[in-house]
Amino acid sequence: MTDSTSYELTLNGEHHRLTLDILNKYNVQGPRYTSYPTAPEWTDAFDLNRYEQSLAEVDALLPRRPLSLYFHLPFCESLCLFCGCNVVIRRDKQVSVPYLQRLEQEIVRMSRWVGSERNVVQLHWGGGTPTYLTPGQAEELFGVISDRFHFAPDAEIGIEVDPRVTTEEHVRVLRRLGFNRISMGVQDFNPKVQQTVHRIQPYELTRNLVELCRELGFGSINLDLIYGLPYQTPESFADSVEKVIRISPNRVAMYSYAHVPWLKKQQGSFARHLPEGLDKFKLFQTGIRLFTEAGYRYIGMDHFAKPDDELAIAQDDKTLHRNFQGYSTRAHADLYAMGVSAISSVGRVYAQNHRDLDSYYRALDEGRAPAFRGCTMTDDDVLRRALITRMLCHRMISKPELEAEFGVVFDDYFHVEQAGLEVLEKDGLITRDELTISATPLGAIFLRNIAMVFDRYLGRKGQEQLVFSRTL
Ligand code: SF4
Repeated sequence: MTDSTSYELTLNGEHHRLTLDILNKYNVQGPRYTSYPTAPEWTDAFDLNRYEQSLAEVDALLPRRPLSLYFHLPFCESLCLFCGCNVVIRRDKQVSVPYLQRLEQEIVRMSRWVGSERNVVQLHWGGGTPTYLTPGQAEELFGVISDRFHFAPDAEIGIEVDPRVTTEEHVRVLRRLGFNRISMGVQDFNPKVQQTVHRIQPYELTRNLVELCRELGFGSINLDLIYGLPYQTPESFADSVEKVIRISPNRVAMYSYAHVPWLKKQQGSFARHLPEGLDKFKLFQTGIRLFTEAGYRYIGMDHFAKPDDELAIAQDDKTLHRNFQGYSTRAHADLYAMGVSAISSVGRVYAQNHRDLDSYYRALDEGRAPAFRGCTMTDDDVLRRALITRMLCHRMISKPELEAEFGVVFDDYFHVEQAGLEVLEKDGLITRDELTISATPLGAIFLRNIAMVFDRYLGRKGQEQLVFSRTL
């Protein structure tokens, strides 16, 4: 039986209608495509010697290729129950001392594969909670990094902070070191939601920290929200969104709560209070309407930006890129990621570090690269990654562009995908002509589903049943 009940979706000033049938059909488990092939396809039979050799090869081949650096700082003082990140919860801050020693070892090791002509155009500290470190530790770590890598004058230097543990001294030190972007987790301002997920964070705390960062000259401030948390209603979520709009960050990430209790057991504690299906969609609908009415541009997936923000400008210029941190304005940079569980993407290689501290420490202490799994892309992977990235960033694919770049005849090469594309077209998510495939405004909220048509690995082993969260 079909259900053509429809719901309004206001997107970048335009009104669209979405039927319940389409919503149910496309709200399925699927990858977020921060990489392609996606992580479940990587193998721990990955050859580590070959990995470091390929780092050297990339460096020799492209001695001026820009760098993006990521550092994973996994510690948090307490666990937010919704959290899906790789975190280590410790109140005793001494735990950071041996970690920083190993991180320094890894920085030294990794920098050996990077020639002196390569500039860092982007650096990001993520976590966990990077401001779990004391301001002094942050300064020391930044010193180690700057001794080993050369920064471009206009480098984007960003950090994720938790307002609950971030002091004025932290942000003053970070700014002095050159950090120019800051991202804060909010998730929701509603007290009942905050209590249920064990994250009490008053509105004033976030607002005051944003104001301080602005005074100090951070060029871009991002706030994160999550929709789909326990006890959220469209009304309560609208209140949180309006509070964020009042704070007026340059960017907002509004993530879909990923319910994966088979991976994160603590999520089971509130499972019966989760808004699901249509209820969850109404939260998304509320957020997208309020942010776009307030003048934010919907970039795609989970991201909004003010029209003068680099992210929106990069989307217009078609220089927007996607990596493990989400959307990025620094395309064509190799990503060297350090720290426990960090994922590097260099040339054709993805490599992920050990996910537990003991294995990460042991590898470095024994003089080995701390990676444990990875993948070397085939020619087909490289083509599909380019295609998927373009769809997620620009919402369209130019067939002649891909044909010229990869030496294929698009419609022949992707003949198997035609059936899937036809369905997407019939459902109003894409339009097609001889030269392009474009997401419609409605398709913009289902970009993951469009990308899934081109994912050669999907469906094997029934992996989407086991690994991925839902697309909405
Ligand atoms: S502070 Fe962030 S990383 Fe740490 S537990 Fe909470 S959500 Fe996870």
